[in-house]
Amino acid sequence: MNKHLEQLVKLSQFDKDIVNFDPQIKKEQEKLKVFTETVDKLNSDVEKLYTIIDETKNKRIKNDIHLKELSDKLSEIEGKHKLAKNEKEVKALQLEEEIAKEQVNFANEEIVRLDSLITSKNEELEAIKAELVQEEESVKELKDLIDANIAKLESERNKVYEEKSVLVGTVDSKVLAFYEKIRRWAAESAVVPVKKQACYGCNMKINDRFYSEFIVSDEIMTCPHCGRIIYKDDSAEA
Ligand SMILES: [Zn+2]
Repeated sequence: MNKHLEQLVKLSQFDKDIVNFDPQIKKEQEKLKVFTETVDKLNSDVEKLYTIIDETKNKRIKNDIHLKELSDKLSEIEGKHKLAKNEKEVKALQLEEEIAKEQVNFANEEIVRLDSLITSKNEELEAIKAELVQEEESVKELKDLIDANIAKLESERNKVYEEKSVLVGTVDSKVLAFYEKIRRWAAESAVVPVKKQACYGCNMKINDRFYSEFIVSDEIMTCPHCGRIIYKDDSAEA
């Protein structure tokens, strides 16, 4: 094979290898994403529970204040009872007393309900916090593993970059410019083999006349259909 062409085949392979690292690195990063999403969800659940507990505690405080007010009111009614002048006033005070007592009952029931809500929400909170600790630990382990995988891929990629740069240094500048020009649109398939008389870039069959010329030529040739640089793939012809 033409020496320049041989270099371009290698160069194109290096470029292909370099690009192939990207989806591998991305795949590693996506693995981590699933786990961090779980952690984010748990963190948001914890926040919500703190809010509910705070609000419930505030309601509890309001009920305590209300109870104190009712107790003051009941003492006040008791005092007024002694001063009542007639049956009508006594009855009015009794009614007021009844209403206040009902409110006391209601406030007490509400306090019991709020206390049990606070207890159950606190239990829920503790369970989620425990889950979060576990999840964060496994994310950390996974992150270390993924970081190591990515570092390994990046170091392999750098090695290919180095090999490529050594090769580029030996390639004739005109040949290199020709390759780069085709690579701009053909990307990693700028240099393709011809197998079974077909271009592996565009899959078009190459006519007999061009093919017989191509078989014997030692020049760099391009596909008559797509313009990619083509080379004889001996392994397929055999
Ligand atoms: Zn072609």
